[in-house]
Amino acid sequence: SSLPLSVPITLPNGTTYEQPTGLFINNEFVKSKLAKTFQVLSPSTEEEISHVYEGDKEDVDIAVEAASKAFQSEWFKGDPLDRSLAINKLADLVEQNAETFAHIESLDNGKSLANSRGDVELVVKYLRSCAGWTDKILGNVIETGDSHFNYTRREPIGVCGQIIPWNFPLLMAAWKLGPVLATGCTTVLKTAESTPLSALYLASFIKEAGIPAGVINIVSGFGKTVGDAIARHNKIKKVAFTGSTPVGREIMKIAAETNLKKVTLELGGKSANIVFDDANVDVAVSALTNGIFYNTGEVCSAGSRVYVQEGIYDEIIAAFKKVAEEVKIGDPFTEGQFMGAQASQAQFEKILRYIEIGMDEGATLVTGGTRHGEKGFFIRPTIFSNVRPDMQILREEIFGPVVTFSKFKTIDEVVESANDSDFGLAAGVHTSNLNTALNISKRLNAGTVWVNTYNDFNAMVPFGGFNTSGIGRELGVEALDNYTQTKAVRIGSLQSDA
Ligand code: NAD
Repeated sequence: SSLPLSVPITLPNGTTYEQPTGLFINNEFVKSKLAKTFQVLSPSTEEEISHVYEGDKEDVDIAVEAASKAFQSEWFKGDPLDRSLAINKLADLVEQNAETFAHIESLDNGKSLANSRGDVELVVKYLRSCAGWTDKILGNVIETGDSHFNYTRREPIGVCGQIIPWNFPLLMAAWKLGPVLATGCTTVLKTAESTPLSALYLASFIKEAGIPAGVINIVSGFGKTVGDAIARHNKIKKVAFTGSTPVGREIMKIAAETNLKKVTLELGGKSANIVFDDANVDVAVSALTNGIFYNTGEVCSAGSRVYVQEGIYDEIIAAFKKVAEEVKIGDPFTEGQFMGAQASQAQFEKILRYIEIGMDEGATLVTGGTRHGEKGFFIRPTIFSNVRPDMQILREEIFGPVVTFSKFKTIDEVVESANDSDFGLAAGVHTSNLNTALNISKRLNAGTVWVNTYNDFNAMVPFGGFNTSGIGRELGVEALDNYTQTKAVRIGSLQSDA
């Protein structure tokens, strides 16, 4: 293909920037070996933004070679504070270009500019948090009596493979790259085929940040080719995946069949968001709104199953309906817009299909249920009530702005309903009673419980799933565990009289 390795793109705010289109290998943008490209669409206009180069298995091999060589280098053997400087420099560069990053994200993913700006802020904070870890990855000394000396080392696992989705293209890249950089690993990262742009733009700052060649490699492309090659590669020691449960299973299977690479998965959810009679109505309604309409509902931890206690049910549903109908939806670049477009046509159609299923199952449509406008993949905030526990819309992940409402009487009853799910990513609890909050937080099968807040992330608070929602944790000190392995050294025959 004759596609240049970068193209000028003019953003809706009038600024023009250079969008890299190549694969990022060894700190250079390169064409893919087959020189194939694929089209990148804007989901809010359904128009083409650009093409980018499409990788394949051979490109993954080349990227893994680069990552293997980089892992032998000074990068992790040298002063860990050098890594810290580089990670902080990368954070600085993202911060200095925050508006461009946010606009790229809204253009490519369709989410509102407000959401994208929030993502960029989280990216900067997470990178800074990771920069602080580089010289704090500690082993132990273990006392087993005078005749032996025992210690452990936390060694970087080596070359990693990372596969990310399209709902938070830049943030998921940061959640993956941060711990790689902090621990001194190297990586080959695949972006989602519908949203490759912001990670490639991030790559354009990696050399300037002082990260050596081969440490971070980014291969754009599809799951069946690039993703599969990453999952299969014998030199990749660890694969981290965020996306759907079926693909997560597939990756685990492939890892088992090849080199038993370590696997961490961050998969889907159907998270319960629970409102007790004694909750503050305004706080609860705002958390419910943030729970399901933030990022157009394309959030793995979306609070998509709402349970409200009977004494407050009518009041909450009326207040929430009002908010849902007032949510500002449309062009992601209009200031003050809360909801932009769904990320792709496939996603848009899947959500509309689930809305139909809900009506066929006999749930009551309280509001929404249709597309917004005639162009772009916009869906109106949608609420269902009278939802039975066996309905598909209550059991399956919809991944859009669609929420179910159910009524409960007692804490025991709602714990049982909330835990009656194959998933276990997150849960929300809204109450002014501390005892209720602590009691139910202990009993919910979820990796995160948010109390009187929702979809509320912090760089130091670990995130990940129980049950089929995943394996391993991102963020916090836990994220580093996935990228290191413990070596135990036991030294015998210490002479006590020496
Ligand atoms: P997906 O799992 O197919 O895609 C996620 C990533 O995996 C992409 O980069 C994709 O290219 C890659 N991939 C796909 N097939 C692969 C394979 N065989 N081997 C290796 N990599 C592969 O997700 P999707 O189809 O884009 O979305 C489907 C559903 O997944 C959504 O509706 C939602 O329910 C869920 N999802 C969850 C998250 C999350 O944050 N946990 C994110 C996106 C989607």
